[in-house]
Amino acid sequence: MNNVLVCGGGGFIGGHLIKRLKREGFWVRSADLKQNEFSPSSADDFRIGDLRDPLFTREVMEGIDEVYQLAADMGGAGYIFTGEHDASVMHNSATINLNVLEFARIWGVRKIFYSSSACIYPAYNQLDPDNPICAEDSAYPAAPDSEYGWEKLFSERLYFSYMRNYGIQVRVARFHNIFGPEGAWHGGREKAPAAVCRKVCEAEYDGEIEIWGDGLQTRSFLYIDECIEGVRRLMESHFSGPLNIGSEEMITINGLAELAMDIAGKSLRIRNVPGPTGVRGRKSDNRLIQTQLGWKPSQPVRRGLENTYRWIEQQSTHSTPITSSLMLAHA
Ligand code: NAD
Repeated sequence: MNNVLVCGGGGFIGGHLIKRLKREGFWVRSADLKQNEFSPSSADDFRIGDLRDPLFTREVMEGIDEVYQLAADMGGAGYIFTGEHDASVMHNSATINLNVLEFARIWGVRKIFYSSSACIYPAYNQLDPDNPICAEDSAYPAAPDSEYGWEKLFSERLYFSYMRNYGIQVRVARFHNIFGPEGAWHGGREKAPAAVCRKVCEAEYDGEIEIWGDGLQTRSFLYIDECIEGVRRLMESHFSGPLNIGSEEMITINGLAELAMDIAGKSLRIRNVPGPTGVRGRKSDNRLIQTQLGWKPSQPVRRGLENTYRWIEQQSTHSTPITSSLMLAHA
């Protein structure tokens, strides 16, 4: 049985991944700045610490066969696109990746999964909301629309460099807007699906919600269960990546809000207000994942949004109402 380390195991995707790995019988260590907020971790060993610190990274890597590297300084559009966090996003995430790879090499870790992002794709290919280009081989000439995307692109290259020069096996996925229960839903780091659900949930029956931009920007959203399925399939495959893990179902942000209203049984007015929106259109291109893994995500966004809405409804009734504006655009 492999000993697995999940870096960022106290976060949204990391928490779900650990549950899955435990169900599959792995021994799992988690390393994160914090514990999971919404349910206890299933990890066998949970180490609280900072992966920017080489001593901590060295310590958690001991005895590990495989690593899933999910730790990053990240958030939704309100965090990534304002420019206020650029230096810390780049410094923190790059330092984590440099440390993780170097100590993985020193300890002889066999295989590493790295979570990159759709944010690496060039802005010039995502101007048309109806026809965004996000095939894996369209990443260059590089022109991500955020420093978060640039750091991910640098780190992808770092992982592949370690594979070429040191023989460590690498798997790189580019996630496209993952959502679901136990993700951030308020406080500034939440993404569009959670923010939309929260606003709809907290609005009066004849009220309105705010959407950043004209709401006609498009995205695709992948439910957490299918994300984890993709991660595990990629990890067990012979393909190194980079590989999109996302949904092909494109929806406008206004459309996403309307879907949440329909689920809630509320008919609210949408007020489009200025705010950071990111690229005009983005969706996963799933041709390569279908070819390489013989599988691709297939669940409709509605099903995942229903689960997410019910979960946020529960959270919301157990906490103080949040009145901050809706994070509408999406990374
Ligand atoms: P998350 O913020 O819930 O999880 C990231 C975790 O990393 C957090 O628990 C955080 O505490 C931890 N972390 C940050 N800095 C750390 C440090 N210095 N030391 C130790 N731990 C640290 O985010 P998530 O949604 O679970 O995303 C996981 C990964 O997937 C990230 O790398 C993210 O960039 C990538 N990704 C996510 C999405 C998405 O839609 N959620 C999309 C594209 C890429």
